Amino acid sequence: MERSTIVRVHDGLHARPATRFVKLAKSFEADIELVKAEKSVSAKSSVKLMLLGVKENEEVTVRATGADAIEAIEALIGYLENPLSGTGEEGAAPAEATPVDVAPRKEPVAAPAPVSIQGGIRGVAASEGFAIGPAFGFFPQEIKQENRMLGHDEIPAEAARLRQAFATVQERMDRSLAASNLAESDRGIIAALKDIASDEELTEAAAALVAGGIDAVSAAIGATSKIADDFAAMDDPYLNARADDVNAVGRQICLALLGQDDANLEAIPEGAILIAEDIGAWDLARAPLKRIAGVICGHGGATSHVAIIARAHGIPAVLGLGHAVHELETVNTVALDANSGLVFANPDEATARRFHDEIAKAEAVKQSLKAYKDITPKRADGTVIEIAANLGSLEEIEAAQEAGAMGVGLFRTELLFMRHIHLPSEDLQAETYATLAKAFAPYPVIVRTLDIGGDKPISGIDFPVEENPFLGWRGIRMCLDRPDVFKPQLRALLRAAVHGNIKVMLPMVSGVDEVRATRLLIDECAAELKAEGRDHAAFDLGIMVETPAAVLVAPMLASEVAFFSIGTNDLTQYIMAADRLNPTVAKLNDVTHPAVMAAIALTAKAAVEAGIMVGMCGEAAGRADLIPAFVDMGLTELSMSPSSIQRAKKCVLDLGAAPDQHFP
Ligand code: PEP
Ligand code: MG
Repeated sequence: MERSTIVRVHDGLHARPATRFVKLAKSFEADIELVKAEKSVSAKSSVKLMLLGVKENEEVTVRATGADAIEAIEALIGYLENPLSGTGEEGAAPAEATPVDVAPRKEPVAAPAPVSIQGGIRGVAASEGFAIGPAFGFFPQEIKQENRMLGHDEIPAEAARLRQAFATVQERMDRSLAASNLAESDRGIIAALKDIASDEELTEAAAALVAGGIDAVSAAIGATSKIADDFAAMDDPYLNARADDVNAVGRQICLALLGQDDANLEAIPEGAILIAEDIGAWDLARAPLKRIAGVICGHGGATSHVAIIARAHGIPAVLGLGHAVHELETVNTVALDANSGLVFANPDEATARRFHDEIAKAEAVKQSLKAYKDITPKRADGTVIEIAANLGSLEEIEAAQEAGAMGVGLFRTELLFMRHIHLPSEDLQAETYATLAKAFAPYPVIVRTLDIGGDKPISGIDFPVEENPFLGWRGIRMCLDRPDVFKPQLRALLRAAVHGNIKVMLPMVSGVDEVRATRLLIDECAAELKAEGRDHAAFDLGIMVETPAAVLVAPMLASEVAFFSIGTNDLTQYIMAADRLNPTVAKLNDVTHPAVMAAIALTAKAAVEAGIMVGMCGEAAGRADLIPAFVDMGLTELSMSPSSIQRAKKCVLDLGAAPDQHFP
């Protein structure tokens, strides 16, 4: 039995997603294989899975045989299509969303040949920032293959020794994973290393070498370096970097065999710069990271785990210095500019001063941004202005939370529909919306119903060829004509509303009839769910105001809905009759044009007079130069990309805080 799908795991199946996939596969008894381009591997080995090199948007087949094959296929396909749902792991969504964790940026890793420039050494800028401090060299002793041939009678004992060493390393990693003070991103990395240490591909290869008469240390090095070479040969910089992880695991196994402890980072002084030929992610994740001011490495690139850990902890890092790193073994002080990948040994006074200035500046910006994160900005009369996030997928939840989003002002559901080769099921949608609601509760999460047209077709809906898709069968117009598509979404939203503060808004509305027709459908869905005995809850229904028609009948619409959200992206193109995608008329596509600003003001006035909430989720909502005008018009919610949130909060505050609002 088998099923194919397109992989939607961000950046493909490696490291943590592979671990999750394997964990899920192992929860079934069936024999399961993952097939890509006619190559199949066991779905229960993460090393094999990673070596299959499955990337996002590639087609794969899950093949299973055994009693629970159907359930296994259903669960694994579900994971591949929507990795943040149904993993059964507590807090899976935010953790998976950690960009540094599962989605390292695909920056070029090809290290420029390290060269000395004006007293500096160039490497790869792997984690931005400036640092200067005492040098702390970390150059553990190399473990060499002994290649000792065993006598026939020595083999069983050596095999047992090897098994014990694997078990010791796995236990150590388990202990680290159990530590309560481990950062979520580091936990993911150690879990991935543990997965390598317990992978049958590795354990069996090492055991086979010992069975062939080779000593355990040589076998461990031989088996790990073979797998590391396979990773190094892959056509993917992220997977290339996994070679270092496999070698790090091999080293730990050798140390366990030799009864030795590795050189350790416990002694690193406060504010030191860690310098090494190579640091295993395992070593770094266990190190006292708060004390480390910077990291410099001979090996590694921007997507190596060391870079990921450094970025997650805000530690500047320059990697890939090559042999030049040994020039730093004996220096006292070292400075690194990890924005441009430069390292200065024993910097002179002027250089040191420059570094201290840069560090102070960066720190000031960081501190001031942090201060805005948890602020609840209010108007002078005390009305809260909600600064919310625009999201398109669950992967973006953590970035929004990190920025201090006060809920979601626009969840675009199109991606959920475009990601699948068939329409997403009601269950999948309900799970997705519930994940969002839980992540932001008690703040509201405004989910926009499907806003799609002929310019962005999706499988499962046949769109006619249209002369002007932007003026055609799209958004609410299409949904009302296709209850088979619309009703599962409305049912999913009613079900998800049980889990948090879900609100729903309709796109491309041009009159009250569309709202009324939608309400009838919602009532029908609620009655069906009630008859089926399914949990569901009512939600506030609002509309996007993005057509000139909606602006002109805004007072009528305001008496029909719970809120307005102004979609300035479309509203501007329709008011100005200037295609938002056509660069030739880009000048006309200007939200500050008096005609567009007047439309926004009219909409706000209608909402304020009717006593309903009016917000904005078009790009203009994040513009610091326009926020004062919008707040003045009566908007009480502004939804934007997470990166604009803190600045927007500051902007509202600068308008004149409410008397009870104290700002640091
Ligand atoms: C808008 O039109 O302003 C809007 C937010 O929706 P979209 O950009 O998805 O059309
Ligand atoms: Mg729009």
